[in-house]
This record gives sequence, C-alpha cells and structure tokens, in this order.
Amino acid sequence: MDKFKPLIDSHGRKITYLRVSITDRCNLRCVYCMPEKGVNPLNHNEIISYEDILRFVNVLANHGVNKVRITGGEPLVRKGLVDFTRSLGKIAGITDISMTTNGTLLEQYAAGLYSAGLKRINISLDSLKEDRFLQISRMGNLKDVLRGIKLAQKTGFNPVKINTVLIKGINDDEIIDFVHFAREFEINLRFIEYMPIGGNVTETITSKEIEDKIRREFDGFEPILENGHQAVSQAVSKEFGFKDNKAVIGFISPLSEHFCAGCNRLRLTASGKLRLCLFYDSEYDIKKILSGEHEDEAVFNWVSNLIRLKQDKHNFSEKAKKPGSLLWANDFMNGIGG
Ligand code: SAM
Ligand code: SF4
Repeated sequence: MDKFKPLIDSHGRKITYLRVSITDRCNLRCVYCMPEKGVNPLNHNEIISYEDILRFVNVLANHGVNKVRITGGEPLVRKGLVDFTRSLGKIAGITDISMTTNGTLLEQYAAGLYSAGLKRINISLDSLKEDRFLQISRMGNLKDVLRGIKLAQKTGFNPVKINTVLIKGINDDEIIDFVHFAREFEINLRFIEYMPIGGNVTETITSKEIEDKIRREFDGFEPILENGHQAVSQAVSKEFGFKDNKAVIGFISPLSEHFCAGCNRLRLTASGKLRLCLFYDSEYDIKKILSGEHEDEAVFNWVSNLIRLKQDKHNFSEKAKKPGSLLWANDFMNGIGG
C-alpha cells in the first residue's frame, strides 16, 4: 500500500477541514453578506454537483481531511441536501460533518438531516428584536429562526451553536440581551467579528470590546480552561463561561486576533472553486479538474501543489488601508460560505 500522504502547506499546517458552500442562493439577504437585490445566481450547470463534491471530499479524506462543514448561501434551499449529507457521512475518514444555516427552514429539514447523520449545527442569529431581524436579513422572520433553534435542540443536535455578527450602530446594543438568551437556553453563542467584504464598509466591533462589555455586566464570566489554557473551539473560537450557568460565549476574531497560524482549512465555493483563504481572492477551478479524465491521485497532486500557495496569514488589514479595495467585485460571502 502507498504511504499515507497528508496535505501540508508550505508553512507546515496540516489541512484537515473543508468548508463547502453548496449553493450561492439564499432565502434571506443579510446586509453584511449580500446586496439588497441579491446576486445573479449561478445557473444550474455552473453550480458544483453533489457528485463532484462527494468525489472531491473522498479524495481529500484519503489524505487526512476528516471534517466537512456544509454552508452556503443557505444550504437548506438546495434540493437533495438530506441525501447528500447521508452520502458525505459514508465517506471513509470523514468523522465530523457540521452545517451553518440561517435556521429558517429547519422545521422542514431538522429531523431528516439528523437521521442522515448530521449532529452538529450552527444557526445564525443577529437580532432578538423582530423589526431589527427583518432590517438585517431584509426578508426574514425572527420567529422562524427561534423555532428552528428550539427544534434543533429538541431533535438532539449537539452542540447547537448560535453565530452572531454585530454591526456598529445596528445591533451592537443587543450584546447583553444575547448573553441572557444564551444563558436562558444554556447554549453556545459565538460573536463573529464583522468582516467588511462585498462592499459593506463599516467599522468592526472587536471581540475584546464585546468581552469587556459582558464582563462589566456578569460576575464570574471567565475563560474556559483546558489543561491550564483558554479553550479554543475548532481552532478559532475563544471560549468563556459562567460560574452559575452552562452557556458558553465564544469569540471569533478573524480581524483583531487572526487565527492563521493554526489554519487547517480549505474552502470549496458554490461554483466549484477551491479557495485557500477567505481573504485572498484567488480561486482554482476544481470543477474543471474533476470533469477531466483524471485519476483521484492526480486530483490530489493538483491540490497538494496548490496548497503550497496558501499564505501564512491573511492580508485583510492591508486591504483595508487602501480605500475602495474592500469591494471584491463578485465575492459576496454567500458564494464563499463564510
Ligand atoms: N446562510 C447560512 C447562515 O447564514 O448561517 C450559511 C452561510 S453564511 C455566509 C455563513 C456565516 O457567515 C454566517 O454565520 C454569517 O453570519 C457569516 N457572515 C456572512 N457575512 C459575514 C460578514 N461580512 N462578516 C462576518 N460574518 C459574516
Ligand atoms: Fe443568506 Fe446566510 Fe448570507 Fe444571511 S448570512 S444572506 S442567511 S447566506
């Protein structure tokens, strides 16, 4: 048998995690993610097929990738998702499948996804006020998401995590309300620093600012320690807990405290492009490679050569210094998957 070859980039980081955006479409239009009128959706034949995704994951799984996150756009709007999830779970070596969703369609899909093998789910929630939820999502209904969260917990998803993006002047007055919400549901809520991409330029509230605000309000809000060090979930979320409650508050700080040194991930976009970093625009056409008559080993070699180009850290702050440079022409978050 051939010697096992892991995927290691030129900075010594082992790639074990693939994030797959299965669709660029969405039933919401969150202000920080998509333009108001939506994007020109990819045609059916431009979207990477489930078959190609499964083959690609299989190739990577033979070389050490064990974790896949399904994202979008809104993953629940793509037909065939439950069967796709089940097929992912059958790939040898894939031990961890998770999904990020806006939660609005969970009533329809939670049970099916759970029985197909999905056990971990992240649900995005940016306001606890109905009118504001609508203002941010432009077309969503808060009640659907809250129902989705309760149902996800009841169905048995574990953990159910909440992703919250705070935007200055829009929902940053809800920090303490979100913490009360996390405590009420004893849930893991993560504040993700707002990334001004896709033309939405506004100042980011840093994780530190949010953390300080929570500490001023709650006694016993402390870093969760593992082996004497602060717990860091999935290499990105710094976790805090309370003495009197099981809720966990995480901070994901791609801008103020980037986690590039521990980056173990690649991204596959809805159009079938491999992206080495969320913040670098370069994309490589996997769909084209898969459509050629290449053996799996050739596909692996292609990826293996490509990941040597993975930068040691992202260049977001440099980009931010150049006026106008944040307007990444076609790169709204929905196609890349966050
Ligand atoms: N539709 C799903 C959802 O909203 O959860 C999955 C796709 S969405 C692109 C994935 C994650 O990216 C969400 O948690 C969303 O809040 C986050 N996101 C999108 N645009 C962002 C931005 N500009 N800054 C920070 N996070 C962003
Ligand atoms: Fe859709 Fe998710 Fe983007 Fe909101 S963040 S527009 S729900 S893809």
